[in-house]
Amino acid sequence: MRDDPAPPKPIRSPAELVEAGLLAPARAPALEAVTARYAMAVTPAMAQLVDPDDPDDPIARQFVPDPRELETRAQERPDPIGDAAHSPVEGIVHRYPDRVLLKLLHACPVYCRFCFRRESVGPGGEALSPEALARALAYIRADARVWEAILTGGDPLAMSPRRLQEVARGLGDIAHVQVMRVHTRVPAVAPERIDAAMIAALKSFGRSVYVALHANHPRELTPAARAACARLVDAGVPMVSQTVLLKGVNDDPDVLGALMRAFVESRVKPYYLHHADLAPGTAHLRVDLARGREIVAALRGRLSGLCQPDYVLDAPGGFGKAPVAASAAEPLGEGRWRVTDFRGGAHDYEDPV
Ligand SMILES: *Cc1c(COP(=O)(O)O)cnc(C)c1O
Ligand code: SF4
Repeated sequence: MRDDPAPPKPIRSPAELVEAGLLAPARAPALEAVTARYAMAVTPAMAQLVDPDDPDDPIARQFVPDPRELETRAQERPDPIGDAAHSPVEGIVHRYPDRVLLKLLHACPVYCRFCFRRESVGPGGEALSPEALARALAYIRADARVWEAILTGGDPLAMSPRRLQEVARGLGDIAHVQVMRVHTRVPAVAPERIDAAMIAALKSFGRSVYVALHANHPRELTPAARAACARLVDAGVPMVSQTVLLKGVNDDPDVLGALMRAFVESRVKPYYLHHADLAPGTAHLRVDLARGREIVAALRGRLSGLCQPDYVLDAPGGFGKAPVAASAAEPLGEGRWRVTDFRGGAHDYEDPV
C-alpha cells in the first residue's frame, strides 16, 4: 500500500485550466473550439512545471491547446506517417520486417498538441478488446520474423499493471519475440505510476524489456521523473529516449543539449530526435528541416557522444524513418572524401589503394 495521498486529478478542459490558474478566463472560449476537435489532458506533474507568468512557457506549449491548431496546411495529413497502409490486423502496424507496433489503447495521461496520432488518440474507445488483442498476438505468433514487439498507443503505461501483465505474458509466450519495447511518456508525466506492480508487469515478459521515454524539455526530468527512471533501470530495464523537435520548446542547442544531458544523467540513452510529423494543425510547433540540421550539428560540436540522438524524419506516406542530419562525409569521387570535424573544419580523406 502507498501511504502518500493519491495525486490530484489531471486537468481535462479549458475551464479546469482557468481554475488551476494556467489560463486567462478570456482565452477559454477559443480553446473550447480546439478541445471539441482534439483531446486535452495535463497531469498534475506537468501542470506544476508551468510558469503561468511566462506566455511562452515550453511545458504549456506542449499541453495547453492553441487556437492555431484549427489551421491546417496543405501538406498536413490525418495519418502523417502512413500507419494505416501497414496495418494487417487491428492494433498492429508492421512496416519493418523484424518488428511490429502493438497499439493497445488510444488514451494517454497527457495529450501533446503536436501528436502524430492526434486524429486517433483520446479518451473513449479505450483499449483493444480482448478478441482484437488475441488476433494481434496470433498475427505476431504466425510471423517468425518478428523479433521485437513495440507497445504503443496511446500510452501503454496508462493501462493497469494487471492488463499490461496479460499482454507482456502473451508476448512472452511467443518464442521468436526476443525484445519487448514500450513507448511511453509516463515516467516523466506521471512518475508515480512506475511502482513495483508496473515494473513486475513489464518484467513478466520474461526476456529483454526496453522502455523508450518521450520527453521534450529538460524541465520534464524532475527529481520524481529521474527517480522513476532509476526504478526501471535498477530493475534491469534499459531506457532510451525519444524527443520531438518543437518550435518554442527545444529548438535551441542549449535547451536540447540540457535535455540530452538530463537523459544521460538519468541513465536514459538518447535515441531519436524526431522531426515533427505533418499532423494537422501543428505548423506553429514545427521548425524547418534546415534549422533542425543546424541544431543537431551544434549538439555534435559541444556534447558528449552519449548525448547524441539520431535526427530522423518519418517519410510521409508510410515509408519509415530516415536519418536526416547533415552527413559529416561528402564523397568527392574516386575514393576521395571531405570529412567535417566537430568544430566544422573540413579535412580530406582518401581510401588507401
Ligand atoms: C518508428 C517505428 C518503429 C520503430 O523503429 P525503430 O527504428 O526500431 O525505433 C517500428 N515500426 C513502426 C511502424 C514505426 O513507425
Ligand atoms: S503521449 Fe504520444 S501518443 Fe499520447 S498524445 Fe503525446 S505524442 Fe500522442
